[in-house]
Amino acid sequence: METGRTLRESSEPVLGWRAWVVTETPDGPRLGSVLHDLVWPHSAVVAECRRADDPFADALDEHPVPGAHCNCGFHAARDPVDALSYARGRDERGTICRVLGEVVLWGHVLETEGGWRASHAYPARLYVPDTELADALAAYSVPVCESPSSRTCMGTPSHSALRSRIWRSANRI
Ligand SMILES: [Zn+2]
Repeated sequence: METGRTLRESSEPVLGWRAWVVTETPDGPRLGSVLHDLVWPHSAVVAECRRADDPFADALDEHPVPGAHCNCGFHAARDPVDALSYARGRDERGTICRVLGEVVLWGHVLETEGGWRASHAYPARLYVPDTELADALAAYSVPVCESPSSRTCMGTPSHSALRSRIWRSANRI
């Protein structure tokens, strides 16, 4: 996802929006990155820089992830509309659908024009089209809502994500 130029560095956890693919794996449906071949486990994911794998990218010196002049790290948009454009697209085999959701980013965080890039990420809340998919994604232990206006969604303020079990265990707090 493209979130624009880097503005400043931060160590504060942030809550943003992103899209995921839901992909069929031998262990059941899992979230996956839209633009990269990465399946998200039921625990915090740590970003790596894959710039060296991209034959079209100019080389950069080694840098902490995310790099201010690179495009690495987990991306999140400030505005859900920016993330929504990634919730549609041509899907590979094994992709069940795409979903929109909120994501907590922490660790090394860079604020950008349209959102953030960060070293660590975990979903905070997922919006899915039906109950079957909601059940399949329940193992992420975050609120899964059938629509942004559903009562279960409204009843759980998204800032609770910053206090969630997985985020806490990842940060040992
Ligand atoms: Zn990088």
